[in-house]
Amino acid sequence: MTSKNLRADTVTLAGGVQLPQMGLGTWPLNDDEAAVAVKSALQIGYRHVDTAENYRNEVGVGQGIRDAGVAREEIFVTTKFNKEWHSVEGARTACEASLKRLGLDYVDLLLIHWPNPAQDRYVQAFEGLLKLRDAGLVRAVGVSNFKVAHLQKLFDAGLTPQVNQIELSPTRPRKELVALHRVHGIVTESWSPLDRGGDLLKADAIQKAAAAHGVTPAQVVLRWHVQQGLVAIPKSADPERQRLNLDVFGFALSAAEMAAIDALEQPEPKLLDADRFGH
Ligand code: NDP
Repeated sequence: MTSKNLRADTVTLAGGVQLPQMGLGTWPLNDDEAAVAVKSALQIGYRHVDTAENYRNEVGVGQGIRDAGVAREEIFVTTKFNKEWHSVEGARTACEASLKRLGLDYVDLLLIHWPNPAQDRYVQAFEGLLKLRDAGLVRAVGVSNFKVAHLQKLFDAGLTPQVNQIELSPTRPRKELVALHRVHGIVTESWSPLDRGGDLLKADAIQKAAAAHGVTPAQVVLRWHVQQGLVAIPKSADPERQRLNLDVFGFALSAAEMAAIDALEQPEPKLLDADRFGH
């Protein structure tokens, strides 16, 4: 199962912007590594790249975009900002600094990286994001690592992010949060979608589906994400794994295979807790 002109399917964000369902994650690549990985991914057919101020690789990501020779308007670029910028003016400062490092004049999606509820300024940061969208510096706005209570506080202020990027995989499917997203028209993005390439890929349900479809275990896991409407951002610096990770739109898992993968959910999965952790 391989296709020549690889392209991800897209989902539509509230407001109409199209987001490719498979993106290249870039943490923990440094600038030099990111430039190589992003160029290779875009040449393979990726049209979505995920970075952040905190990864300290936006310069490299921008370089990779220029080196790939793909038109800017074809590429969906996401970045995120840290807690020191949680204010209306701060969001603008953070955005302008990211644009400068990336060498771009707009980003497609800007996210509040962590809610940092102890600081309690994410509502103001989100108001800043909306101003950036009005000004045309970002096409879509969202959050990352927000839990139900953090989203609720935004809803109470009349605010709805277009995306919430969260830690999500078959072992940690985050069902309550995803259900809430669906009610509010928020697209879910899965970070660490492969559980960082660990034991998940050895699970029986994954191995069996991989054999049945003639694909790799990672492709099965990524298909599980996109088949239920999630967006995944696997990181790979290896061109062959990049290609395989994108090539999941030409087969479908059966209902029984999806259910067997759903059963890998851990009762109390280890998650980074956004009430305690954040930057
Ligand atoms: P992933 O689940 O994407 O796993 C990445 C690891 O899996 C790498 O070691 C990679 O190695 C390996 N891998 C990739 N493809 C395959 C494959 N086909 N088969 C076997 N192994 C594979 O985890 P990440 O934590 O990197 O998450 C992805 C992205 O999510 C990050 O890069 C970042 O952009 C974002 N993220 C966002 C966070 C947030 O707070 N919003 C937090 C953490 C991550 P190799 O490179 O050698 O292929």
